[in-house]
Amino acid sequence: MIKTDILIIGAGPTGLFTVFEAGLLKLKCHLIDALPQPGGQCSELYPKKPIYDIPGFPEVLAGDLVTNLMEQIKSFEPGFTLAERADTLDKLEDGTFVVTTNKGTKHNAPVVVIAGGLGSFEPRKPQIDNILNFEDKGVAYMIKDPEVYRDKKVLIAGGGDSALDWAIFLADVASEVSLVHRRNEFRGALDSVEKAAELAKSGKIKLFTEAQVTKLYGDDNLEAVVVKYNDEEKGESYVEVDNFIPLFGLSPKLGPIGNWGLEIEKNAIKVDNSYDYQTNIPGVYAIGDVNTYKGKLKLILSGFHEAAVMCQSAYQIINPGKRYVMKYTTVGGVEGFDGSKK
Ligand code: FAD
Repeated sequence: MIKTDILIIGAGPTGLFTVFEAGLLKLKCHLIDALPQPGGQCSELYPKKPIYDIPGFPEVLAGDLVTNLMEQIKSFEPGFTLAERADTLDKLEDGTFVVTTNKGTKHNAPVVVIAGGLGSFEPRKPQIDNILNFEDKGVAYMIKDPEVYRDKKVLIAGGGDSALDWAIFLADVASEVSLVHRRNEFRGALDSVEKAAELAKSGKIKLFTEAQVTKLYGDDNLEAVVVKYNDEEKGESYVEVDNFIPLFGLSPKLGPIGNWGLEIEKNAIKVDNSYDYQTNIPGVYAIGDVNTYKGKLKLILSGFHEAAVMCQSAYQIINPGKRYVMKYTTVGGVEGFDGSKK
């Protein structure tokens, strides 16, 4: 059981900044995210897009904002459970909460903060009858640790940046890389398309275009797939593989959080914005894009503000009766924080 003061569901910009605000109050944080990397929408949807409305930054790339947030919270040493979705919330007799992920990891904390944005990013899965039987037995929908594929025969399906980038990267790691795409043209960056074509020419990537994976075979673990061409006359190929990784994109869903007994309005969690962004379950807060209240603006800076307010309230739950006097980080005396410390 992972124990912490504040358990944050969602490692988007809001969740990450919460670690900083909590750290100033000497509260420890642990974050859970369904994605294999922190940053939420900024990392997953638009890392190379400039943002113009972060105070103090006339322009910053979304990916760089995440890098900076990670740097800002480093000294507070947050814990991370990545590539796992928070599935259940239970309240214990002592008033604390247990959050369990889809992989069975349990987390215990007196305060739970939902910073789940648009929801957890769920992979779009191909329609292959027995694919569920091979999940975690050769089939994966995102790559958490590329070393898992060292010296393995890997087949990636998809036509976007993820499929291209990973096929290119794994060409130097795996023993065999195949890339299957149902069209002839790829949607990824031109540079990646050209690189993949070069690797295909030199035999480092086996390319199947205008084709799809239609069948999976294996006793327990995946052993082979059938790649069928769109053109019936071209027939199909039986390809021996250890891993099949369909990268067809991710779509956000509020998902299991919607069944936790929280008050939901238009796919977002209702909170008390007259005070501290607490939900209808005391001790459970919702901040950032995932919450709703009158006048809500779904912007990164709203999440930052809500994180600061919420942490002050959480301090009282974690330290009942203890008086806290807010100080500026720039004024000597904010215990435990030294902005220059790396
Ligand atoms: P998110 O960034 O959505 O992060 C939430 C995280 O929670 C995700 O990583 C998700 O995987 C995780 N999660 C959810 N449920 C679970 C669960 N059950 N278990 C585990 N993990 C879970 N805003 C601006 O202020 N300025 C801009 O210029 C701007 N441009 C944008 C451009 C685009 C193309 C898009 C799509 C958005 C833009 N936004 C912009 C909006 C901004 O990205 C969001 O306001 C911001 O990302 C919200 O941050 P968040 O941390 O609340 O949520």
